[in-house]
Amino acid sequence: MIEFLKHPVFNIISEIAAIENTQVYVVGGFVRDALLGKPSKDIDIVVIGSGIELAEKINKRIPGQGRLSVFKNFGTAMIKYNDWEIEFVGARKESYRLDSRKPIVENGTLQDDQNRRDFTINAMAISLNPKTYGQFVDPFNGIDDLKNKIIRTPVDPIITFSDDPLRMMRAIRFASQLHFTIVPEALDAIKNQCDRINIVSGERIMDELNKIILGSIPSFGFKLLDQTGLLPIIFPEMAKLKGIEKIEGKGHKDNFYHTLKVLDNISINTNDLWLRWAAILHDIAKPETKRYTESGWTFHGHDALGAKMVPEIFRKMKLPLNQKMKFVQKMVLLHLRPIALAKEVVTDSAVRRLLAEAENDVDDLMVLCEADITSKDDGKVKKYMANFKLVRQKLKEVEEKDAIRNFQPPISGELIIETFKLKPSKVVGEIKQSIKDAILDGKIRNNYEEAFQFMLQEGKRLGLSLPGI
Ligand code: ATP
Repeated sequence: MIEFLKHPVFNIISEIAAIENTQVYVVGGFVRDALLGKPSKDIDIVVIGSGIELAEKINKRIPGQGRLSVFKNFGTAMIKYNDWEIEFVGARKESYRLDSRKPIVENGTLQDDQNRRDFTINAMAISLNPKTYGQFVDPFNGIDDLKNKIIRTPVDPIITFSDDPLRMMRAIRFASQLHFTIVPEALDAIKNQCDRINIVSGERIMDELNKIILGSIPSFGFKLLDQTGLLPIIFPEMAKLKGIEKIEGKGHKDNFYHTLKVLDNISINTNDLWLRWAAILHDIAKPETKRYTESGWTFHGHDALGAKMVPEIFRKMKLPLNQKMKFVQKMVLLHLRPIALAKEVVTDSAVRRLLAEAENDVDDLMVLCEADITSKDDGKVKKYMANFKLVRQKLKEVEEKDAIRNFQPPISGELIIETFKLKPSKVVGEIKQSIKDAILDGKIRNNYEEAFQFMLQEGKRLGLSLPGI
């Protein structure tokens, strides 16, 4: 018997369902993941009858009582029991209209319920009924597809994807997460109706895209999105990175594949979704800033323009418009700075300025820059990495010495106004800026006394009087 079925939680469900004379099966993602050796604590139970009624009965009988939530609109109920989340749903049959991914739902058999599932590997069920406990119900041979690492739909893929076009994203997401192959007829079905993704909400698309991004090799999913024609629909800015233009025989690198390499590289070193998003967007403005000059292809200003594009991309793609977006924006804006530092002689002043701008995100910025080294020339890679090591060391030294990371100017605008009896005006900002520059350039140290003296000097230089002194 499959090991996980020995857990008491399944025995409780089985016993109570038998008393109630109701058939129950564990189904879907839980079965798939358990067979892949990754048992989760989210269980989906299909009930032949009412999922809500059975959940209510089970909940009354479990020792210590779980917490029951009922979702009448969806006909489902969830029991939270210790750290398990067990969802009960009545077996259903679904039919679809062309303009919506919301099905018309009727009660159905286990087979009906398996037919409505997206992929053969997600349609396997295991009986929890006493006489057949542990028996596999796998009408589409999902077990073989799991072994052969294949994504296949239980019914004709044209129907599966047309009924609910979100499944096109899910197919690519599962292929990418599990490193499975989508069968050719399913891939063709996605290609032929990729524009039906337009009837799916941005939020649902983004849930799947973020799962692709959080996989171990996210480029796998992005290449499939490109290959099937979904990418230009859901993320046109990224699709525009693709291609190489040649003038006078000189081509630039393909920024789509470069970006994917950076994304895969960064995914080795971070699981942070937003740092991975920064990798995706770091060169997003290259198509807009591309110029051919005497010295070859340039992309001047793609960092600043890219940062400017981030809020609109986040808004359109239903990503959160909060600090996470600001973080991504900052990474895109600053992504060239450590490279510039690594190429030149690394001065304290340049390092201090970078620290002042990157603040607490400077370590993430370095992770991004290291991922951005995608040269095939091992010698170059070694050289850049060594330079970045130097930049990191310098960042550490300067930070320890000057505590500049969360730079707060030691002299406030109010103090400048008070000292020189000024009205709020431009000159106040100028004095503040020159104090900041003096600290960052290492002319004075980052403390109140030295900054105050410097302020007095600046006032003198600007011909300001010092009332009362
Ligand atoms: P994950 O937990 O990684 O998201 P999952 O397969 O558990 O994977 P859920 O979204 O929780 O994903 O779905 C549970 C099950 O419900 C799936 O295994 C599948 O059988 C079915 N399912 C979910 N979404 C769809 C859909 N859009 N069309 C058909 N079946 C679906």
